[in-house]
Amino acid sequence: MDRALLEEHLTARAEPDYRGTQVWQWAARGVAGYAEMTNLPAELRAELAGEVPFSTLEVEREEKARDGTVKTLFRTHDGHAVEAVLMRYRDGRRSLCLSSQSGCPLTCTFCATGQMRFGRNLTASEILDQALHFRRVEPVDHAVFMGMGEPMLNLDAVVEAARSLPDIGITHRRTTVSTVGWLPGLRRFVDEVEEPVRLALSLHAPTEELRSELMPVNDRYPLADVLEECLRYFELRRRKVFVEYVMLGGVNDRVEQARALADLLDPKVFKVNLIPYNPTGMYAGSSRKAIAAFKGVLDRARIPATVRLTRGRDIAAACGQLAARPEPVALGLPLDS
Ligand code: SAH
Repeated sequence: MDRALLEEHLTARAEPDYRGTQVWQWAARGVAGYAEMTNLPAELRAELAGEVPFSTLEVEREEKARDGTVKTLFRTHDGHAVEAVLMRYRDGRRSLCLSSQSGCPLTCTFCATGQMRFGRNLTASEILDQALHFRRVEPVDHAVFMGMGEPMLNLDAVVEAARSLPDIGITHRRTTVSTVGWLPGLRRFVDEVEEPVRLALSLHAPTEELRSELMPVNDRYPLADVLEECLRYFELRRRKVFVEYVMLGGVNDRVEQARALADLLDPKVFKVNLIPYNPTGMYAGSSRKAIAAFKGVLDRARIPATVRLTRGRDIAAACGQLAARPEPVALGLPLDS
């Protein structure tokens, strides 16, 4: 819901100040439309239904994976594609993977989003409407800005949206913003976001050379500078930084590379999440054995490390697979492999 447009209408009608909040609170609790907002005058409900679209996004397609993951393809009013994912875990956790941009201007070699055409930054309302869509399905409690796009390139909208997530049931502590290390945005995030929103860094390679090969953005903002900024986040917020490391067979998954990674990271500051590679065409994923050996090195170095559970791979809803393809793709892969 475009809250600025909503406020405009309410002001034009000389509605009391609390109306905007009232409408938002209903939406945040997952009602399906204005009609359900029973403490609003019926006439106002009818008018809003005609004047202020209940969502800034239209649902174009929805797919459900065998593991319960739901991927939704939305369209903005000006025709841009946006995907978001609802992940369901056995322990009851409901986590949203939100997009900050339609497509992504960066060109990480292993990620499908970078291969689609970049659209534009999303507005805060367009980000929140992804969350509200899933909130209408069921209560949700976690959010990660790990969908399409680079959040630090659209920081204002991302932060504005994140600040409203608690109304939907997602506290700041359960909200994570992930970045490739886009320094101008990351610096502002560290300086300006005082809420306990978590930070994740897509690291993926223990040396500048390899990282630049995999993620061209590293030429512009080298890993060393990015890690320094992460340390500053830790010093100011006292919250660990998650490191994401996608496991590419024969590329970044060797035991020496695990040692180099361990040397880079202070165990008090970082927690590593090893991500099994989700096929996007370019690489082969590391074997289970290689992932276990890599983790073993980190364990021995006392760097906290976990292997990320893969969700929604059969509907291309997993990390790095959001590309708003026109047709569902059948990758035919075993789950959790
Ligand atoms: N641009 C931000 C937000 C997107 S997060 C960022 O990169 O951090 C998406 C996560 O999925 C990132 O950690 C990304 O590196 C990872 N990823 C991308 N492609 C992947 C793939 N094919 N398999 C597994 N993880 C992938």
